[in-house]
Amino acid sequence: MAKIGFIGLGNMGGPMACNLVKAGHSVTVFDLSSDAMAHLATQGAQTASDVTQVCEGADYVISMLPAGKHVRAIYCGENGLINHLDTTTLVIDCSTIDAESAQFVGKTLGDAGVKFVDAPVSGGVAGAAAATLTFIVGGSQSDFDSANSVLPDMGKNIFHAGDIGAGQVAKICNNMLLSILMAGTSEALQMGIDHGLDPKVLSEIMLNSSGRNWTLELYNPCPDVLENAPSSNDYKPGFMVDLMAKDLGLAQQAAQQTNSATPMGALAKNLYNLMQNQGKGSEDFSAIFKLFSEK
Ligand code: NAD
Repeated sequence: MAKIGFIGLGNMGGPMACNLVKAGHSVTVFDLSSDAMAHLATQGAQTASDVTQVCEGADYVISMLPAGKHVRAIYCGENGLINHLDTTTLVIDCSTIDAESAQFVGKTLGDAGVKFVDAPVSGGVAGAAAATLTFIVGGSQSDFDSANSVLPDMGKNIFHAGDIGAGQVAKICNNMLLSILMAGTSEALQMGIDHGLDPKVLSEIMLNSSGRNWTLELYNPCPDVLENAPSSNDYKPGFMVDLMAKDLGLAQQAAQQTNSATPMGALAKNLYNLMQNQGKGSEDFSAIFKLFSEK
């Protein structure tokens, strides 16, 4: 069993750290929220009084933070963990951030002899709780192999995407496609409804035809088609519009760097920004259906 430091106990990080404790690891946690720390203490984790304590004797330091600026600051900022990490520790950052920040942190830590992989996740809060997340890892083969001895305690599919930053690129490619599928599924369903079709029947037809996709099958955006989907629970997240908008911003940034054409991703970003402007930032991202259904 490993000694693990865990930073960032939010919607995702909280249950992920919990699963590491359940798997028998010795886990020391840190978050700015004392409530989040207190909850993890009840689950058997040790709490750090300051962030540097998570590094002490750690085989792994895992972070699950909101955005690139938080990850840069924690590791490489003034009083960053770079001054406290041991060269035997592997840093695994699971946050969804821009690939450039992941590469910057990886290179800065690497220059100090500290190993780093980016390992963003897919699967949402439910996947975090059930330890069924997909991890998309960027880093060297040996660091991937080392990460792979602990990530299965939080997830079930572990992929090696390439070098440092590749995990982040793969993750935003996936989320850009997901947003496009969600928007397309929503407009197709609403057009059918406008013509008098039952959305359950139409969904079943498309699921068994060439329009089949993940959103239709597992996350139908039309209320009351799938009982457990956020659409049937007043669009409570799930995965928030604000987070999808953040990921689509990262996708556009990445596309600009390589001059890649992403017209569908740009359109999806605009639609999600529109939802934010309508005050729907904290609704589930499947609420994009309402852009078509509310007339
Ligand atoms: P969250 O806002 O619930 O949690 C973030 C946590 O980080 C908070 O508890 C906050 O207090 C803590 N934090 C912030 N700055 C800190 C600091 N300097 N030191 C210590 N703790 C600090 O966010 P989340 O939903 O858990 O998402 C985390 C990451 O996972 C994001 O990058 C997000 O894009 C990604 N993600 C989220 C989902 C999802 O469904 N929520 C799915 C996949 C990926």
